Amino acid sequence: MLDNKKKEQIKFIYPETLISQDEIEIYEKEEKELISERNPFEMAKKQIDIVAKEMNLDDNIKKFLKSVERSLIVSVPIKKDDGNLEIFEGYRVQHSTVRGPGKGGIRFAPNVNLDEVKALATWMTWKCSLLCLPLGGAKGGICVDPRKLSKSELERLTRRYTAEIINIIGPDMDIPAPDVNTDSQIMAWIMDTYSMNKGRAIPGVVTGKPIEIGGSVGRETATGMGLYFVLEALCNKMNIDLESQKIVVQGFGNVGGNIAKILCEKGCKIIAVSDISGGLFTKEGLDIIELLDWRDKKKYLKDFQNENYEFINNEDILTLECDILIPAALENQITQLNAKKINCKIILEGANGPTTPEADIILKNNGIIVVPDILANAGGVCVSYFEYIQDIHSYFWKLERINQELKNILVNAFEDVYYLSKEKNVSLRIASYMIAISRLAKAIELRGIFP
Ligand code: GLU
Repeated sequence: MLDNKKKEQIKFIYPETLISQDEIEIYEKEEKELISERNPFEMAKKQIDIVAKEMNLDDNIKKFLKSVERSLIVSVPIKKDDGNLEIFEGYRVQHSTVRGPGKGGIRFAPNVNLDEVKALATWMTWKCSLLCLPLGGAKGGICVDPRKLSKSELERLTRRYTAEIINIIGPDMDIPAPDVNTDSQIMAWIMDTYSMNKGRAIPGVVTGKPIEIGGSVGRETATGMGLYFVLEALCNKMNIDLESQKIVVQGFGNVGGNIAKILCEKGCKIIAVSDISGGLFTKEGLDIIELLDWRDKKKYLKDFQNENYEFINNEDILTLECDILIPAALENQITQLNAKKINCKIILEGANGPTTPEADIILKNNGIIVVPDILANAGGVCVSYFEYIQDIHSYFWKLERINQELKNILVNAFEDVYYLSKEKNVSLRIASYMIAISRLAKAIELRGIFP
């Protein structure tokens, strides 16, 4: 039942409406559905249910995969530059270490919460399993708007967060990496804080570090490169001439910026891109290099002046008519509310979890091919794995080797997914999940449940 406060809120939103009990119940049900659709961990669990049914997964394994191994919530106090204290909430979740140490990024964003981090950790487990990397899945984050902090505040925040999670991370345990709003500098601070506490340099505690302290060449562009290799493999299979495609990219950070640049260099027309402030659109194709330069000066796309470019908001960018749509921002972008309006042939998921299961069904019915996140954006964690190996061996590879091995792993994973999707007549997403989850199920069975 709705309480009086909720009824007042509904009446405030719809002042003309005389709300009957039936209407209230419908509203309540819809609201619950939307909240559940938008909760990323609920979404991840729904995805497990869908694929479990498809592959007749053992109920105990399903139960196991729906829960996370370990969640740590920490309070991260920092002294601001003005002397005031501010406290942020941070998280590190290890979803599964059945196939190896936990692996996954750390994000700094105002909407970070435990359920989001649990979902992201779950998707990392599947991603590593799909690529057959000997790693599990983890994720971390701090609920903070990093743009509101100075560089030294950001450093204190990162170091204190590292100190709070220090007992559950490490090269054999759980290896963080960059994610939304975190970069190689932040990884350097984590590596230093960890190393100072252990009394020796331990580069292998994080990946995505600067090259000077044990990072890998090609890591920064790896997610973009991976998106490109997977898209190229799909286009080859479908006889699509990639160079003539019109492309829309939502998000202009590391992932969106790099894939836009790579595709632009290959001759594709990037007709729209967006950042947090909104997007720019032109049928003729944007000058991506100029826009990246603008972004690197810490300026927003909405303030970019070019009379041939049209400003477009972040919702409308997703429904622009194009050939390939690349959501490369955050989760929950394509939902049942806008899925019907999506007007493209292929969706290449650069972000983690941009499409809800409800939207997925609508896209499938409309004949749109979705290349799922755990395959499409896996280039980042793949080169993180190369960095981890290079750190262990203290022997560093050349860029050609990185990109060649990255391409091999991703194209092989794509081929497996593509053939399974044909064989079982399922979407690329379901096929990817089936491969990832059956590998995990086997590992769980072999190890058994302790004690
Ligand atoms: N944050 C990236 C992802 O979501 C990379 C994680 C990693 O390299 O560990 O896949």
